Amino acid sequence: MKLFARRLLAVLIFQQVAAISAADLFLLPTANQAIYERGGSERFFVGTAGKPWTSGTFGCVRSDGWQIHEGLDIRSLQRDKRGEPTDPVITTADGTVAYINRKPSLSNYGNYLIIRHTIQGLEIFSVYAHLSEVRADLRAGSVVKAGEPIGVMGRTANTRQSITKDRAHVHFELNLLINDRFAAWHKKNDPKQRNDHGDWNGQNMLGLDPGLILLQQRSQGTNFSLVQFIRSQRELCRVLVRDTDFPFLRRYPQLLRANLRAQAEGVAGYEIALNFNGVPIELIPRPESEIKSKARIQLLSVNEAERKVNPGKRLVTEQRGGWKLTTTGENLLELLTY
Ligand SMILES: [Zn+2]
Repeated sequence: MKLFARRLLAVLIFQQVAAISAADLFLLPTANQAIYERGGSERFFVGTAGKPWTSGTFGCVRSDGWQIHEGLDIRSLQRDKRGEPTDPVITTADGTVAYINRKPSLSNYGNYLIIRHTIQGLEIFSVYAHLSEVRADLRAGSVVKAGEPIGVMGRTANTRQSITKDRAHVHFELNLLINDRFAAWHKKNDPKQRNDHGDWNGQNMLGLDPGLILLQQRSQGTNFSLVQFIRSQRELCRVLVRDTDFPFLRRYPQLLRANLRAQAEGVAGYEIALNFNGVPIELIPRPESEIKSKARIQLLSVNEAERKVNPGKRLVTEQRGGWKLTTTGENLLELLTY
């Protein structure tokens, strides 16, 4: 009887897992599912030392909003005798390994792994950082299935302050890629600065909020649209670039908006709306007749309310009653259009 009950339970759990994976585009990367529970945030997120759990969420959550955290810090549930985390880390969706760093001293992410996914036609890159180990047989190009174990949670990082045992977590990101010519751009733009990770440098990725994505897909079910999620982000600013051909346009055509006048007259540049983290949420082709200035990169507008709430990326700054792009903002657009 006992055995039967246990078997029945196993079947029920299996059915539940199967039902979740059929509906969800993204799975959580560990067994910690408390983000879905009412009041579960404290059991799900790990804050920075001495700070509340909110500092482990995505966004402008550190240094009074002036520092951005581009992922989720997900708490460990499982430890060995010495108190080290042992939680298996799994892939969030079907994909291909894009990059593995097995030299923790080369990154503040420690041992980490990046996986490329195509979700509803969009190329998305998931990141799993601070692992104690990455599965030994995995290489760039390895094909992985949703839910497949890829490593073990750890505390690796090259930062001066190490991650303490009580703060053990996996740092999880969902990103868009800015430019697959990053390594060349970096070499030209910043020749003195080392780049140990090629195109897989953190500077070349723009994070979306994985927590919001997970919660929205859970509440909206099959109606959840990743493109819609990106397009409905609040706008921080709008810029114009006098470039007509750059990799982002080909990688993310779903974010392009049609413009009949540009189609008729020819495209002279793109108007781009950015969210607070610099994610292009809409790109509109513009003909010469719709462009006012000759400058190659122009700041068209700033949403001051959004800038007040989410200043952390420092893309724009106030200047004599107006606004201008910061060096960070200009660099992002230079890289985007390179
Ligand atoms: Zn983190």
